[in-house]
Amino acid sequence: MDLDSKLPEGPLAEKWTNHKFKSKLVNPANKRKYDVIVVGTGLAGASAAASMGELGYNVKAFCFQDSPRRAHSIAAQGGINAAKNYQNDGDSVFRLFYDTIKGGDYRGREANTYRLAEVSVNIIDQCVAQGVPFAREYGGTLANRSFGGAQVSRTFYARGQTGQQLLLGAYSALSRQAASGKVQLHARTEMLDVVVINGQARGIVTRNLITGKIESHSAHAVVLATGGYGNVFFLSTNAMGSNVTAAWRAHKKGAFFANPCYTQIHPTCIPVSGDHQSKLTLMSESLRNDGRIWVPKTAVKGLKAADAAKIAEQDRDYYLERKYPAFGNLVPRDVASRNAKQMCDEGRGVGPTGLAVFLDFAQAIKRDGMETVKGKYGNLFDMYRQITGDNPYEMPMMIYPAVHYTMGGLWVDYNLMTTVPGLYAAGEANFSDHGANRLGASALMQGLADGYFVLPYTIGDYLAGMPYDKTPTDHEEFQKAETQAKERINTLLNINGQKTVDDFHKELGHIMWEYCGMARTENGLKAAKGKIKAIKEEFWKNVKVLGENAEMNMSLEKANRVADFIELGELMIDDARNRKESCGGHFREESQTPEGEALRIDDEFSYVAAWEYQGEAKEEKLNKEKLRFENVKLTQRSYK
Ligand SMILES: Cc1cc2nc3c(=O)[nH]c(=O)nc-3n(C[C@H](O)[C@H](O)[C@H](O)COP(=O)(O)OP(=O)(O)OC[C@H]3O[C@@H](n4cnc5c(N)ncnc54)[C@H](O)[C@@H]3O)c2cc1C
Repeated sequence: MDLDSKLPEGPLAEKWTNHKFKSKLVNPANKRKYDVIVVGTGLAGASAAASMGELGYNVKAFCFQDSPRRAHSIAAQGGINAAKNYQNDGDSVFRLFYDTIKGGDYRGREANTYRLAEVSVNIIDQCVAQGVPFAREYGGTLANRSFGGAQVSRTFYARGQTGQQLLLGAYSALSRQAASGKVQLHARTEMLDVVVINGQARGIVTRNLITGKIESHSAHAVVLATGGYGNVFFLSTNAMGSNVTAAWRAHKKGAFFANPCYTQIHPTCIPVSGDHQSKLTLMSESLRNDGRIWVPKTAVKGLKAADAAKIAEQDRDYYLERKYPAFGNLVPRDVASRNAKQMCDEGRGVGPTGLAVFLDFAQAIKRDGMETVKGKYGNLFDMYRQITGDNPYEMPMMIYPAVHYTMGGLWVDYNLMTTVPGLYAAGEANFSDHGANRLGASALMQGLADGYFVLPYTIGDYLAGMPYDKTPTDHEEFQKAETQAKERINTLLNINGQKTVDDFHKELGHIMWEYCGMARTENGLKAAKGKIKAIKEEFWKNVKVLGENAEMNMSLEKANRVADFIELGELMIDDARNRKESCGGHFREESQTPEGEALRIDDEFSYVAAWEYQGEAKEEKLNKEKLRFENVKLTQRSYK
């Protein structure tokens, strides 16, 4: 299939303006004749639903939590980027665009990334107007800090709770529309299928998570803002409920899945402490503004944080500062993670497992004082202390990389439309703007850009060409999708095997981490494919799902999601095997520079890999969208 990304003509900086002007409009009186479904109420979904409601469309918004405010976006700590240049330190829309394209190792689309940088400035204005309490300087201007992969300070933040505050802003906007009747909220409702009629997305099928009732909802357009799939690894920093089900079911209905193997492994997480864990905790990247990362120059077995002070200054290796003097501790995440792994592989890791490095604030506390450090990072320090029992004001934190974000997702064109007409994907659920590695503080930016500033235009353009008629939910396609959803639930409940859903999820996670984690090889990936196939086969014969359908049943919810994770895992392996180069977070050991950096092969792999579902037990078909770079020159990424 020819993948048309619908990139507008013209110079980069004018594309979005021209595109908006050329997009068709729906007049205000006609907007109320159209229904739009938004699945997901995180930053991307809440902002999209609120904006579409404000425009006058009839919106139905869905989430599986008990309130939109509990979407995973609430966990975001460090901040949101915007090219405001308040610091007068050389920032600009072009620089944010350039940093993001380079940070993504030249595997993102120029036009989308530029638009993201362009609307970033509007996001801050919108959020300030909503009352989001961004940190301010003494004189009242908004404060900024730095994040990885940038040499300017462009990150706006609300202490270590930026996602929460932004989500409260978006939720307020959403609540206003709910109160006015323009948005109908459906919490505790999980989308199980997309309904496609005559080639267009015309609705969804959902399950009420309290009663088990399966229902159909019809609309003229459907938006999936359902978040990322990092939990395929079992252990990740994502919220426990984050899953791939909505995107995966859409994939099976014709939406291509792009670059599934691009996973972000975040360098500053609290290390794994044992098999009992079900999730990992991120320590925000903002800590690398002041924290210095080091390991001993020579291995010290089992070195505790409490004994770190015994290692003299000259015996410490501040390896990021040594290897990358220009960016130091603020190199991008993929680079910082790989280096931490390398230190541990050399045997210089610290802590009881040797799988950790130090993040040390002693110098910052000495330089700026305890109160200043507390003011910037107090809640993060408290969180670290509560989880580990160590006091980071007195000794260094111990950190290790962990799965954090997924750059892959549903393929979308410039309008954020998937390969199914009328079906859109926004926020972390789409693959769009970050290439092979996302820079810190740019996920919140993208989610809000998509929801507040892109979808309201692009969906309007699509709806302007749609008839007003509504598809009744007793249409055979809705009925077919409902029957399939019910049959799958019955099958899961009736297997009555020996292993729990978590047993399977953990097995899958171990395989994904081992073979498709921080480093990937041809042999490892080949082995992983066979192992995942075996897990899938066993899952459908031997999983034990407790309880009934007509009740709140988390074991059933999870089984439904893990079954999708298993299938996605297989596709991630295929994608990682196909991409024989290294780029960003995708590190093929066979493709590295003599210094151990990711080595791209531009001639062969300068494309988006968009996978097309072919049916049960069939290999997926690879489609390619060629990436064209007209405004940046492809180089070996260097942060030295
Ligand atoms: C610990 C942590 C810290 C982070 N810090 C930052 C940061 O400082 N800056 C930054 O830019 N990024 C950060 N990120 C990344 C960022 O938080 C996420 O990428 C972003 O919030 C995703 O937003 P979203 O709206 O796309 O999805 P989410 O917030 O994940 O929302 C998904 C929504 O979809 C719903 N949903 C999913 N599936 C279904 C279904 N089948 N049916 C119905 N509803 C469904 C959920 O209920 C939810 O409402 C952080 C991530 C983590 C894990």
